[in-house]
Amino acid sequence: MAAMPSEVQEMVRSFVELSPGTAASVKNLEKMLECIRAQQTYQRFSVSPATRTVARPMVAICLIGPKKKPELVVDVYESALLLENGRHREQQPHPIFRSFQRWTPQGLEKGFREGNAALAALARGLCERCLAHEPPYKRLKTIGMSGCTECSIASVFRF
Ligand SMILES: [Zn+2]
Repeated sequence: MAAMPSEVQEMVRSFVELSPGTAASVKNLEKMLECIRAQQTYQRFSVSPATRTVARPMVAICLIGPKKKPELVVDVYESALLLENGRHREQQPHPIFRSFQRWTPQGLEKGFREGNAALAALARGLCERCLAHEPPYKRLKTIGMSGCTECSIASVFRF
């Protein structure tokens, strides 16, 4: 898609479905933003297929920043079980992936795509060189590289 002019990309994207039966339309994305904002009054919006016996990743989406310049944050957490209260147990204090986007339908769609890319990367496993570090880091492998970007840069040099 990168080779196409941006107007063509926009047109193609408008036909793309977010999920079967749900178009990536501005109207749909605006409704989703409103849902995320409304839910945040009580707790951060999150989704996960995890159960109390099957550990799965979690995606949390929230609104941050001042009213004049609201931003969207998409966090992806490693697999964990659900707790007794139905909440996902976050095994680490920080997400394995975080994306900042504009609080717009286009920003939300980009956040969805980046979140899905992070889930696919998570399924391929974490950077082994970071895990071997003392203390271990948890970083996603970068697509097309043998490890994370940082470790791939470090391994270019022959110390
Ligand atoms: Zn690494």
